[in-house]
Amino acid sequence: VKKQGKNGYLLFSREVHTQLQERMELEVDMRKALDRSEFTLHYQPQIRTGDVSMIGVEALVRWNHPTRGLLYPGVFIPIAEETGLIIELGNQVLREACRQMYAWHQAGGPLIPVAVNLSSRQFHQPQLVEQISRTLQETGLAAEYLELEITESMMMDATISFDILHQLANLGIRISLDDFGTGYSSLSYLKNLPIHKVKIDRSFIEDIAENSSDKAIVSTIITMAKQLNMDVIAEGIETREQLDILAEQECDEVQGYYYSRPLPAVDIEQRFFVPIRE
Ligand code: C2E
Ligand code: CA
Ligand code: CA
Ligand code: CA
Repeated sequence: VKKQGKNGYLLFSREVHTQLQERMELEVDMRKALDRSEFTLHYQPQIRTGDVSMIGVEALVRWNHPTRGLLYPGVFIPIAEETGLIIELGNQVLREACRQMYAWHQAGGPLIPVAVNLSSRQFHQPQLVEQISRTLQETGLAAEYLELEITESMMMDATISFDILHQLANLGIRISLDDFGTGYSSLSYLKNLPIHKVKIDRSFIEDIAENSSDKAIVSTIITMAKQLNMDVIAEGIETREQLDILAEQECDEVQGYYYSRPLPAVDIEQRFFVPIRE
């Protein structure tokens, strides 16, 4: 028993060691990756169900790692946040998203906005508003085509959030509340903050066909958003059944694998742009 316990402990510590080592390696790699432009964006269409038209895209970052292949944000965003590298990464993401959207508009693509995710650390960075406004100027994208996705947990400090969000909204940028329904904050901020759109979290959609509580929550969020004059979109739609339930509840904007996974820009053009010239 003693021997087993010892082995168990050794195994465990070796595993922790490997994890720590992997983390440190990724951190070192990330610093280089930021200089070498290894980060790239995929775009996921937001679809109006009535005519299946693309009404926006969400930019989602990926890392083209030289040896590990394509890495997803779940692997590296937490490290970027802890190390502070998220500021530089966030700036690169914002710039690329605005650049791409402007290029699409110039090329006669649909005049839709791009949604960019902000992390808490970015949101509380003092130069945030200045940085964003400069990026818009430099890329040429009009502010109304940029949507920033924030989460409820970032609204914890209400006075600071109030100020930042109003500055951003005054620039003409749209604010979207991501993962809605999963946070702890009070609903009162919805009436005080300039929020244009609510994104119903995927966790409520997953079992909506079987779970009547989820269905009730989703229906309540949709009604509330509409009464507050906000747009509402459901994320994580994977099946026809989920889509039909949402349509029944008059949620007419969705995002999810059912219509498309996040795709590289060229694939978005091929699949979702209406050809306007030969
Ligand atoms: P999120 O903002 O909630 O983004 C939605 C995530 O759900 C994406 O994962 C997307 O690929 C995935 N998804 C979309 N439709 C479906 C579906 O139908 N079914 C399922 N199962 N999943 C779906 P992804 O790209 O791995 O991103 C994960 C998270 O990483 C994002 O969650 C966001 O919090 C963060 N993230 C992504 N890009 C950025 C970024 O540029 N900056 C920051 N700060 N965070 C980012
Ligand atoms: Ca998001
Ligand atoms: Ca989300
Ligand atoms: Ca999320």
